[in-house]
Amino acid sequence: MTVASPVSRDACIARDATDPIGAFRDRFVIPDGVIYLDGNSLGPMPRAAANTLRRTIEQEWGHDLIRSWNSAGWFEMPLRLGDRIGALIGAAPGQTVVCDTTSINLYKAVHAAMALRPARDVVIAEAASFPTDLYIIEGAMKSAGRPMQRRLVGADGPTVEVLLDERVAVVVLSQVDYRTGALLDVAAVTEQIHKAGALVVWDLCHSASVIEIEFDRHAIDFAVGCTYKYLNGGPGSPAFISVATAHHGAATHPLSGWWGHAAPFAFDRDFRPDAGIKRFLCGTPPIISLRGVDAALDALAGVEVAALREKSLSLTELFMARITALRPGLDIVTPREGSLRGSQVSLAFEHGYSVVQAMIERGVIGDFRAPDIMRFGFAPLYLRFRDVWDAAEILAGCIRDEVWRDPRYSQRLAVT
Ligand SMILES: *Cc1c(COP(=O)(O)O)cnc(C)c1O
Repeated sequence: MTVASPVSRDACIARDATDPIGAFRDRFVIPDGVIYLDGNSLGPMPRAAANTLRRTIEQEWGHDLIRSWNSAGWFEMPLRLGDRIGALIGAAPGQTVVCDTTSINLYKAVHAAMALRPARDVVIAEAASFPTDLYIIEGAMKSAGRPMQRRLVGADGPTVEVLLDERVAVVVLSQVDYRTGALLDVAAVTEQIHKAGALVVWDLCHSASVIEIEFDRHAIDFAVGCTYKYLNGGPGSPAFISVATAHHGAATHPLSGWWGHAAPFAFDRDFRPDAGIKRFLCGTPPIISLRGVDAALDALAGVEVAALREKSLSLTELFMARITALRPGLDIVTPREGSLRGSQVSLAFEHGYSVVQAMIERGVIGDFRAPDIMRFGFAPLYLRFRDVWDAAEILAGCIRDEVWRDPRYSQRLAVT
Protein backbone atom coordinates (compact mmCIF):
# COMPACT_ATOMS: atom_id res chain seq x y z
CA MET A 1 0.00 0.00 0.00
CA THR A 2 1.37 3.40 -0.90
CA VAL A 3 -0.18 6.64 0.22
CA ALA A 4 0.31 9.66 -2.04
CA SER A 5 3.07 12.04 -0.96
CA PRO A 6 2.00 15.15 0.97
CA VAL A 7 1.77 18.21 -1.29
CA SER A 8 2.57 20.96 1.20
CA ARG A 9 4.46 21.48 4.43
CA ASP A 10 1.13 21.63 6.27
CA ALA A 11 0.12 18.32 4.73
CA CYS A 12 3.42 16.89 6.02
CA ILE A 13 2.64 18.12 9.53
CA ALA A 14 -0.81 16.53 9.29
CA ARG A 15 0.73 13.27 8.12
CA ASP A 16 3.19 13.34 11.05
CA ALA A 17 0.28 13.74 13.46
CA THR A 18 -1.30 10.47 12.30
CA ASP A 19 1.95 8.55 11.77
CA PRO A 20 1.64 5.24 13.69
CA ILE A 21 5.43 5.27 14.27
CA GLY A 22 5.56 8.98 15.09
CA ALA A 23 5.92 8.52 18.84
CA PHE A 24 9.14 6.51 18.46
CA ARG A 25 11.00 9.75 17.74
CA ASP A 26 10.79 10.54 21.47
CA ARG A 27 12.93 7.49 22.19
CA PHE A 28 15.92 9.25 20.56
CA VAL A 29 17.98 12.33 21.28
CA ILE A 30 17.70 14.51 18.18
CA PRO A 31 19.34 17.90 18.83
CA ASP A 32 17.15 20.96 18.24
CA GLY A 33 17.50 22.38 14.76
CA VAL A 34 18.97 19.20 13.31
CA ILE A 35 17.43 17.14 10.52
CA TYR A 36 19.40 13.94 10.74
CA LEU A 37 19.79 12.19 7.41
CA ASP A 38 22.89 10.21 8.36
CA GLY A 39 21.39 7.44 10.49
CA ASN A 40 22.67 5.06 7.82
CA SER A 41 26.18 5.92 8.93
CA LEU A 42 25.81 6.53 12.68
CA GLY A 43 22.38 6.21 14.27
CA PRO A 44 21.41 8.81 16.92
CA MET A 45 21.54 8.04 20.64
CA PRO A 46 18.56 6.23 22.12
CA ARG A 47 17.33 8.34 25.03
CA ALA A 48 17.59 5.38 27.43
CA ALA A 49 21.19 4.60 26.47
CA ALA A 50 22.76 7.10 28.88
CA ASN A 51 21.05 5.51 31.90
CA THR A 52 21.71 1.98 30.71
CA LEU A 53 25.39 2.73 30.21
CA ARG A 54 25.63 4.62 33.52
CA ARG A 55 24.17 1.65 35.37
CA THR A 56 26.55 -0.72 33.60
CA ILE A 57 29.55 1.41 34.49
CA GLU A 58 28.65 2.44 38.05
CA GLN A 59 26.77 -0.59 39.33
CA GLU A 60 27.79 -3.60 37.26
CA TRP A 61 31.44 -2.67 36.76
CA GLY A 62 32.02 -0.21 39.60
CA HIS A 63 30.26 -2.06 42.37
CA ASP A 64 29.59 -5.66 41.39
CA LEU A 65 32.90 -6.10 39.62
CA ILE A 66 33.70 -9.51 38.16
CA ARG A 67 30.54 -11.01 39.63
CA SER A 68 28.62 -9.21 36.86
CA TRP A 69 29.70 -11.79 34.30
CA ASN A 70 27.13 -14.00 36.01
CA SER A 71 24.85 -11.67 37.96
CA ALA A 72 24.29 -9.05 35.22
CA GLY A 73 24.13 -11.52 32.34
CA TRP A 74 27.35 -10.29 30.72
CA PHE A 75 28.35 -13.82 29.70
CA GLU A 76 25.13 -14.38 27.75
CA MET A 77 25.03 -11.01 26.00
CA PRO A 78 26.51 -11.93 22.59
CA LEU A 79 23.89 -14.65 22.13
CA ARG A 80 20.96 -12.83 23.78
CA LEU A 81 21.46 -9.72 21.66
CA GLY A 82 22.06 -11.94 18.64
CA ASP A 83 18.63 -13.46 19.08
CA ARG A 84 17.09 -9.99 19.33
CA ILE A 85 18.70 -9.02 16.02
CA GLY A 86 17.77 -12.41 14.57
CA ALA A 87 14.13 -11.51 15.21
CA LEU A 88 14.57 -8.43 13.00
CA ILE A 89 16.04 -10.40 10.08
CA GLY A 90 13.85 -13.49 10.19
CA ALA A 91 16.43 -15.76 11.81
CA ALA A 92 15.18 -18.13 14.51
CA PRO A 93 17.07 -18.04 17.85
CA GLY A 94 20.48 -19.63 18.16
CA GLN A 95 21.81 -18.52 14.76
CA THR A 96 23.06 -14.99 15.48
CA VAL A 97 25.72 -13.54 17.75
CA VAL A 98 26.77 -9.93 18.34
CA CYS A 99 30.55 -9.64 18.35
CA ASP A 100 33.60 -8.08 16.71
CA THR A 101 33.17 -5.84 13.65
CA THR A 102 31.43 -6.38 10.32
CA SER A 103 34.87 -6.66 8.71
CA ILE A 104 35.95 -9.43 11.10
CA ASN A 105 32.62 -11.25 10.89
CA LEU A 106 32.78 -11.15 7.10
CA TYR A 107 36.24 -12.71 7.28
CA LYS A 108 34.87 -15.56 9.40
CA ALA A 109 31.84 -16.08 7.14
CA VAL A 110 33.80 -16.07 3.86
CA HIS A 111 36.36 -18.42 5.32
CA ALA A 112 33.72 -20.81 6.62
CA ALA A 113 31.88 -20.77 3.29
CA MET A 114 35.05 -21.49 1.27
CA ALA A 115 35.83 -24.40 3.59
CA LEU A 116 32.31 -25.78 3.14
CA ARG A 117 32.86 -25.92 -0.64
CA PRO A 118 36.43 -27.35 -0.78
CA ALA A 119 36.28 -28.46 -4.42
CA ARG A 120 35.41 -24.96 -5.67
CA ASP A 121 37.85 -22.09 -6.17
CA VAL A 122 35.90 -18.93 -7.04
CA VAL A 123 34.48 -16.15 -4.86
CA ILE A 124 32.01 -13.70 -6.40
CA ALA A 125 31.75 -10.17 -4.99
CA GLU A 126 30.52 -6.81 -6.24
CA ALA A 127 32.88 -4.34 -7.88
CA ALA A 128 30.92 -1.55 -6.16
CA SER A 129 31.06 -3.19 -2.70
CA PHE A 130 31.82 -1.18 0.37
CA PRO A 131 35.63 -1.39 0.15
CA THR A 132 36.21 -3.24 3.42
CA ASP A 133 34.16 -6.13 2.01
CA LEU A 134 36.51 -6.40 -0.98
CA TYR A 135 39.62 -6.02 1.16
CA ILE A 136 38.45 -8.69 3.59
CA ILE A 137 37.51 -11.10 0.80
CA GLU A 138 40.99 -10.60 -0.65
CA GLY A 139 42.55 -11.48 2.71
CA ALA A 140 40.28 -14.47 3.29
CA MET A 141 41.05 -15.85 -0.18
CA LYS A 142 44.78 -15.69 0.55
CA SER A 143 44.32 -17.76 3.69
CA ALA A 144 41.98 -20.35 2.16
CA GLY A 145 44.74 -22.96 1.95
CA ARG A 146 44.26 -23.30 -1.81
CA PRO A 147 44.46 -20.84 -4.71
CA MET A 148 41.21 -18.88 -5.06
CA GLN A 149 39.99 -16.57 -7.78
CA ARG A 150 37.68 -13.58 -7.61
CA ARG A 151 34.91 -12.61 -10.02
CA LEU A 152 33.36 -9.18 -9.69
CA VAL A 153 29.79 -8.30 -10.57
CA GLY A 154 30.00 -5.04 -12.51
CA ALA A 155 33.50 -5.75 -13.84
CA ASP A 156 33.66 -9.38 -14.97
CA GLY A 157 29.96 -9.61 -15.81
CA PRO A 158 26.79 -7.56 -15.36
CA THR A 159 24.92 -9.80 -12.89
CA VAL A 160 25.56 -12.53 -10.33
CA GLU A 161 23.68 -14.99 -12.51
CA VAL A 162 26.04 -14.79 -15.48
CA LEU A 163 29.09 -15.28 -13.24
CA LEU A 164 27.75 -18.39 -11.51
CA ASP A 165 29.03 -21.84 -12.43
CA GLU A 166 30.24 -25.03 -10.77
CA ARG A 167 33.52 -23.39 -9.70
CA VAL A 168 31.85 -20.81 -7.45
CA ALA A 169 32.16 -21.54 -3.72
CA VAL A 170 30.61 -18.38 -2.27
CA VAL A 171 28.94 -15.13 -3.31
CA VAL A 172 29.18 -12.04 -1.09
CA LEU A 173 26.55 -9.37 -1.68
CA SER A 174 25.19 -6.27 0.00
CA GLN A 175 21.42 -6.17 0.12
CA VAL A 176 21.57 -2.38 -0.31
CA ASP A 177 24.36 -0.63 -2.24
CA TYR A 178 25.90 1.85 0.22
CA ARG A 179 26.46 4.44 -2.50
CA THR A 180 23.38 4.29 -4.73
CA GLY A 181 20.83 2.80 -2.34
CA ALA A 182 19.89 0.14 -4.92
CA LEU A 183 18.25 -2.91 -3.35
CA LEU A 184 18.79 -6.51 -4.47
CA ASP A 185 16.08 -9.17 -4.48
CA VAL A 186 17.42 -11.43 -1.73
CA ALA A 187 14.97 -14.26 -2.42
CA ALA A 188 15.65 -14.49 -6.16
CA VAL A 189 19.42 -14.03 -5.98
CA THR A 190 19.83 -16.49 -3.10
CA GLU A 191 17.90 -19.05 -5.11
CA GLN A 192 20.14 -18.59 -8.17
CA ILE A 193 23.24 -19.01 -6.01
CA HIS A 194 21.94 -22.16 -4.37
CA LYS A 195 20.95 -23.61 -7.74
CA ALA A 196 24.59 -23.29 -8.77
CA GLY A 197 25.61 -25.17 -5.62
CA ALA A 198 27.29 -22.15 -4.04
CA LEU A 199 26.77 -20.48 -0.65
CA VAL A 200 25.79 -16.87 0.00
CA VAL A 201 26.94 -14.25 2.49
CA TRP A 202 24.57 -11.29 2.70
CA ASP A 203 25.94 -8.03 4.07
CA LEU A 204 22.98 -6.34 5.80
CA CYS A 205 24.79 -3.18 6.99
CA HIS A 206 22.36 -0.90 5.14
CA SER A 207 19.22 -2.93 5.60
CA ALA A 208 18.94 -4.62 9.01
CA SER A 209 15.86 -3.18 10.79
CA VAL A 210 14.65 -1.02 7.85
CA ILE A 211 13.99 -3.69 5.23
CA GLU A 212 12.32 -7.04 5.78
CA ILE A 213 14.71 -9.95 5.50
CA GLU A 214 13.75 -13.59 5.79
CA PHE A 215 16.94 -15.37 6.75
CA ASP A 216 15.29 -18.71 7.47
CA ARG A 217 12.65 -18.68 4.76
CA HIS A 218 15.19 -18.02 2.02
CA ALA A 219 17.66 -20.51 3.53
CA ILE A 220 20.38 -17.85 3.69
CA ASP A 221 23.71 -19.38 4.68
CA PHE A 222 25.48 -16.42 6.30
CA ALA A 223 24.64 -12.81 7.07
CA VAL A 224 26.70 -10.04 8.66
CA GLY A 225 25.92 -6.44 9.53
CA CYS A 226 26.64 -3.35 11.62
CA THR A 227 24.73 -2.28 14.71
CA TYR A 228 25.76 1.38 14.62
CA LYS A 229 23.84 2.40 11.48
CA TYR A 230 20.05 1.94 11.36
CA LEU A 231 20.24 -0.14 14.56
CA ASN A 232 21.54 2.88 16.53
CA GLY A 233 23.91 0.91 18.82
CA GLY A 234 26.48 3.72 19.15
CA PRO A 235 29.82 4.58 17.54
CA GLY A 236 31.79 1.42 16.80
CA SER A 237 29.24 -0.84 18.50
CA PRO A 238 29.88 -4.54 17.80
CA ALA A 239 28.50 -6.17 14.66
CA PHE A 240 26.45 -9.32 14.16
CA ILE A 241 26.90 -12.57 12.30
CA SER A 242 24.18 -15.08 11.50
CA VAL A 243 24.93 -18.63 10.41
CA ALA A 244 22.21 -21.09 9.41
CA THR A 245 21.81 -23.97 11.86
CA ALA A 246 22.39 -26.43 9.02
CA HIS A 247 26.03 -25.25 8.84
CA HIS A 248 26.81 -25.17 12.56
CA GLY A 249 28.37 -28.62 12.69
CA ALA A 250 30.76 -28.12 9.78
CA ALA A 251 31.42 -24.36 9.60
CA THR A 252 34.87 -23.40 10.85
CA HIS A 253 36.95 -20.25 10.75
CA PRO A 254 40.54 -19.44 11.64
CA LEU A 255 39.88 -17.04 14.56
CA SER A 256 39.47 -19.92 17.00
CA GLY A 257 39.55 -17.98 20.24
CA TRP A 258 38.44 -19.24 23.64
CA TRP A 259 34.97 -17.69 23.46
CA GLY A 260 34.26 -19.98 20.51
CA HIS A 261 35.34 -23.05 22.49
CA ALA A 262 32.74 -25.60 23.59
CA ALA A 263 33.81 -25.10 27.22
CA PRO A 264 35.79 -21.85 27.56
CA PHE A 265 36.19 -22.21 31.31
CA ALA A 266 37.52 -25.79 31.11
CA PHE A 267 40.81 -24.23 29.90
CA ASP A 268 41.56 -27.22 27.65
CA ARG A 269 44.78 -27.27 25.70
CA ASP A 270 43.13 -27.99 22.33
CA PHE A 271 40.46 -26.04 20.51
CA ARG A 272 37.11 -27.76 20.32
CA PRO A 273 34.44 -25.50 18.77
CA ASP A 274 31.10 -24.89 20.40
CA ALA A 275 28.40 -27.00 18.76
CA GLY A 276 26.31 -23.94 17.86
CA ILE A 277 26.61 -20.32 16.80
CA LYS A 278 28.99 -19.51 19.67
CA ARG A 279 31.79 -21.06 17.62
CA PHE A 280 31.74 -17.75 15.73
CA LEU A 281 32.80 -15.82 18.83
CA CYS A 282 36.49 -15.14 19.31
CA GLY A 283 37.54 -13.22 22.45
CA THR A 284 36.05 -11.38 25.42
CA PRO A 285 33.09 -9.23 24.35
CA PRO A 286 33.08 -5.42 24.80
CA ILE A 287 30.34 -5.29 27.45
CA ILE A 288 29.92 -1.52 27.62
CA SER A 289 29.46 -1.29 23.85
CA LEU A 290 27.08 -4.25 23.91
CA ARG A 291 24.92 -2.37 26.42
CA GLY A 292 24.55 0.38 23.82
CA VAL A 293 23.18 -2.24 21.42
CA ASP A 294 20.85 -3.50 24.16
CA ALA A 295 19.44 0.01 24.69
CA ALA A 296 19.08 0.50 20.94
CA LEU A 297 17.12 -2.74 20.56
CA ASP A 298 14.86 -1.62 23.44
CA ALA A 299 14.13 1.54 21.43
CA LEU A 300 12.98 -0.64 18.52
CA ALA A 301 10.69 -2.76 20.64
CA GLY A 302 7.03 -2.58 19.63
CA VAL A 303 7.43 -1.71 15.96
CA GLU A 304 7.39 -4.14 13.04
CA VAL A 305 10.06 -3.97 10.35
CA ALA A 306 7.22 -4.02 7.78
CA ALA A 307 5.84 -0.76 9.22
CA LEU A 308 9.30 0.81 9.19
CA ARG A 309 9.78 -0.23 5.58
CA GLU A 310 6.44 1.25 4.56
CA LYS A 311 7.23 4.58 6.18
CA SER A 312 10.77 4.58 4.80
CA LEU A 313 9.43 4.18 1.26
CA SER A 314 7.04 7.09 1.79
CA LEU A 315 9.86 9.31 3.12
CA THR A 316 12.24 8.54 0.26
CA GLU A 317 9.45 8.93 -2.31
CA LEU A 318 8.55 12.35 -0.88
CA PHE A 319 12.19 13.48 -0.93
CA MET A 320 12.68 12.44 -4.55
CA ALA A 321 9.40 14.03 -5.60
CA ARG A 322 10.28 17.32 -3.88
CA ILE A 323 13.81 17.67 -5.24
CA THR A 324 12.58 16.76 -8.71
CA ALA A 325 9.93 19.48 -8.40
CA LEU A 326 12.39 22.06 -7.05
CA ARG A 327 15.47 21.23 -9.21
CA PRO A 328 14.31 19.10 -12.15
CA GLY A 329 17.77 18.49 -13.58
CA LEU A 330 19.29 16.80 -10.52
CA ASP A 331 20.75 13.35 -11.09
CA ILE A 332 19.08 10.99 -8.60
CA VAL A 333 21.06 7.74 -8.75
CA THR A 334 18.75 5.84 -6.40
CA PRO A 335 16.06 3.78 -8.17
CA ARG A 336 12.66 5.50 -8.28
CA GLU A 337 10.93 2.13 -8.14
CA GLY A 338 10.25 1.34 -4.47
CA SER A 339 10.99 -2.37 -4.71
CA LEU A 340 14.46 -1.54 -6.02
CA ARG A 341 15.63 0.94 -3.38
CA GLY A 342 16.74 0.81 0.23
CA SER A 343 16.19 3.54 2.80
CA GLN A 344 18.35 6.27 1.30
CA VAL A 345 18.41 8.72 -1.59
CA SER A 346 21.67 9.51 -3.36
CA LEU A 347 22.41 12.18 -5.92
CA ALA A 348 25.41 12.49 -8.18
CA PHE A 349 26.54 16.11 -8.24
CA GLU A 350 29.85 17.62 -9.23
CA HIS A 351 29.99 19.94 -6.21
CA GLY A 352 28.42 17.39 -3.88
CA TYR A 353 31.01 17.70 -1.14
CA SER A 354 30.50 21.46 -0.80
CA VAL A 355 26.72 21.19 -0.96
CA VAL A 356 26.70 18.59 1.85
CA GLN A 357 28.95 20.83 3.98
CA ALA A 358 26.66 23.83 3.39
CA MET A 359 23.59 21.74 4.23
CA ILE A 360 25.21 20.60 7.50
CA GLU A 361 25.75 24.25 8.39
CA ARG A 362 22.02 24.77 7.77
CA GLY A 363 21.11 21.87 10.07
CA VAL A 364 20.62 19.05 7.56
CA ILE A 365 23.18 16.33 8.19
CA GLY A 366 23.82 13.99 5.27
CA ASP A 367 27.13 12.71 3.94
CA PHE A 368 29.30 12.48 0.87
CA ARG A 369 30.86 9.47 -0.78
CA ALA A 370 33.62 9.98 -3.33
CA PRO A 371 33.74 10.74 -6.14
CA ASP A 372 30.50 12.75 -6.34
CA ILE A 373 27.68 11.14 -4.34
CA MET A 374 25.54 13.15 -1.89
CA ARG A 375 23.90 10.56 0.33
CA PHE A 376 20.83 11.02 2.52
CA GLY A 377 19.59 8.26 4.81
CA PHE A 378 15.92 8.20 5.84
CA ALA A 379 15.51 6.38 9.13
CA PRO A 380 11.77 5.88 9.63
CA LEU A 381 12.05 5.49 13.41
CA TYR A 382 12.65 9.15 14.12
CA LEU A 383 12.30 11.19 10.92
CA ARG A 384 9.15 13.17 10.21
CA PHE A 385 7.57 14.06 6.90
CA ARG A 386 8.14 17.74 7.67
CA ASP A 387 11.88 17.01 8.04
CA VAL A 388 11.92 15.56 4.54
CA TRP A 389 10.08 18.59 3.17
CA ASP A 390 12.49 21.01 4.84
CA ALA A 391 15.59 19.03 3.84
CA ALA A 392 14.57 19.11 0.17
CA GLU A 393 14.04 22.90 0.38
CA ILE A 394 17.47 23.38 1.95
CA LEU A 395 19.19 21.14 -0.61
CA ALA A 396 17.53 22.98 -3.48
CA GLY A 397 18.44 26.34 -1.88
CA CYS A 398 22.13 25.38 -1.57
CA ILE A 399 22.24 24.48 -5.24
CA ARG A 400 20.31 27.59 -6.30
CA ASP A 401 22.76 29.73 -4.30
CA GLU A 402 25.78 27.88 -5.76
CA VAL A 403 27.31 27.43 -2.32
CA TRP A 404 30.39 25.74 -3.81
CA ARG A 405 31.66 29.17 -4.78
CA ASP A 406 32.41 29.72 -1.08
CA PRO A 407 35.83 28.08 -0.43
CA ARG A 408 35.06 27.27 3.20
CA TYR A 409 32.70 24.50 2.08
CA SER A 410 35.37 22.73 0.07
CA GLN A 411 37.87 21.98 2.84
CA ARG A 412 37.91 18.19 3.20
CA LEU A 413 37.67 16.75 6.70
CA ALA A 414 39.14 13.35 7.64
CA VAL A 415 35.73 11.71 7.81
CA THR A 416 33.35 12.66 5.01
C1 LIG B 1 29.37 0.26 7.22
C2 LIG B 1 29.77 -0.95 6.44
C3 LIG B 1 30.82 -1.77 6.87
C4 LIG B 1 31.62 -1.37 8.07
O1 LIG B 1 32.44 -2.37 8.53
P1 LIG B 1 33.20 -2.16 9.92
O2 LIG B 1 33.98 -3.39 10.08
O3 LIG B 1 32.16 -1.93 10.97
O4 LIG B 1 34.05 -0.95 9.81
C5 LIG B 1 31.09 -2.92 6.13
N1 LIG B 1 30.37 -3.24 5.04
C6 LIG B 1 29.35 -2.46 4.60
C7 LIG B 1 28.57 -2.83 3.38
C8 LIG B 1 29.04 -1.29 5.28
O5 LIG B 1 28.06 -0.50 4.84
